[in-house]
Amino acid sequence: MSDRQTVIDYLKGLGEMELLELFHAAMKDRPGNWFIGVGNHNQEGEGRIAASPTGWDVKLLAPHDPADYDGPWEASAPFVREASCLTCQADLISYAKHMKCPVCGSSAYGH
Ligand SMILES: [Zn+2]
Repeated sequence: MSDRQTVIDYLKGLGEMELLELFHAAMKDRPGNWFIGVGNHNQEGEGRIAASPTGWDVKLLAPHDPADYDGPWEASAPFVREASCLTCQADLISYAKHMKCPVCGSSAYGH
C-alpha cells in the first residue's frame, strides 16, 4: 500500500474533531487562514430564515474557543452547535458552544 493510501485510510478513520485538529496542525505555518467545511444541498432553504441564493448551505468547521474551556474534548464530540460569525459572517459548526471562527479568529457563540 502506498503512503498516500495509508494517509487516506487514516483520515477516513478520524472523527470530525480529530480531522479538524489535524488539519489545523498541518496548515498552521502556511500563509493565510485555512479552513475546512461541509456543504449540503438545501434548495428549499429548510431551517434557514431565507434560502441560500445558491441552494447550498456551507458551514466551516470551527474549533472550540480555548479562552472559555479547560482540558481536552472527547474525540467523538458531535458537531451540533451552529453559529454565524459576527465579524466575517461565516456560517460555523462546532462541537463547542463557544467557538473560534477559522476565517477571522473571532469568538462566536453557537446554539
Ligand atoms: Zn469570522
